[in-house]
Amino acid sequence: VNKRELSVASLADDIRAGSKQALAKGITLIESVKAEDRIYANELLERLYPYTGNCIRIGITGVPGAGKSTFIESFGTMLCEQHNRVAVLAIDPSSTRNGGSILGDKTRMETLARHPSAFIRPSPTAGTLGGVHKKTRETMMLCEAAGYNILLIETVGVGQSETLVRNMVDFFLLLVLTGAGDELQGMKKGIMEIADLLLVNKSDGENVPVAKRAVREFNQLLHFLQPATPEWQTKAMAVSSLKKDGLDDVWTIIEAFVKFTKENDYFESRRNQQLTDWFTQMIHDRLVEQFFVSNTTRDTVKQLEKRILLGEVSPSNALDELFSK
Ligand code: GDP
Repeated sequence: VNKRELSVASLADDIRAGSKQALAKGITLIESVKAEDRIYANELLERLYPYTGNCIRIGITGVPGAGKSTFIESFGTMLCEQHNRVAVLAIDPSSTRNGGSILGDKTRMETLARHPSAFIRPSPTAGTLGGVHKKTRETMMLCEAAGYNILLIETVGVGQSETLVRNMVDFFLLLVLTGAGDELQGMKKGIMEIADLLLVNKSDGENVPVAKRAVREFNQLLHFLQPATPEWQTKAMAVSSLKKDGLDDVWTIIEAFVKFTKENDYFESRRNQQLTDWFTQMIHDRLVEQFFVSNTTRDTVKQLEKRILLGEVSPSNALDELFSK
């Protein structure tokens, strides 16, 4: 047993004991791209794996400005006050593009960040969508082993990241704005079909009648859509994250959802499906990684690419050539 193995063992104990510092350190180890760190990251995961799963995983999405961080601040704080432990993670596909991660700004979620029962992890700033989410599941496992019973996974509603998050969570929340009007028709249908609850946010002040009308319209639309979870009718409701209106109702709905899906076994079967899908995805990733390890393979691929562009060989034949070697 070397020194580092011992320190991983004590890191695991500290995470289990609830140290936020240890949890942050563990996540940094998980996110490391160094090969030697990977061994210890896996060791850490192995130790903590038996303590995972005892939680509710909630995905939250919505276009920038919809009020995600305000919602998480209010909702998360409410849950903490009700003796829950809440971890907030983020998947931000745009972080490399605009240079700032969605949770990177320390001024967001100030109250929640200070709450002893909350843990907020800024999204990793580096990497593509494909890279970042691979660590999110492992990060979730660490938070669960640390005793957080509610996980909030935030993502910007820009297209692909919602599907990624949907496949990591039990319940998926979509925040929409009132009077989003025509924008509602196009892209929203797809995303509405993966949501278990729609929240029309900013239902306060003069906005209340507009929000109420939007709720009615969304509910009419939802009625015709395929539900995200079998036998669960996704509904829309109005909330104000700012005024903290309707947030306890949101929690009541989530609890009812968990009860219902646990009774009809859908909760368990969705989680199992997510686990095996994740494993399959990792097999694919590993195969691709191993395939490109050798320089000769990379050179052969480059040469074949040239010949494809010159029209000397079709992609299909190039593929056969590559694998017949
Ligand atoms: P995000 O980009 O989805 O994280 O959205 P933010 O939480 O940063 O909110 C965007 C803007 O909307 C901010 O100026 C918030 O103060 C405001 N906002 C968020 N929720 C509400 C709400 O319930 N009511 C009102 N009136 N404003 C809100």
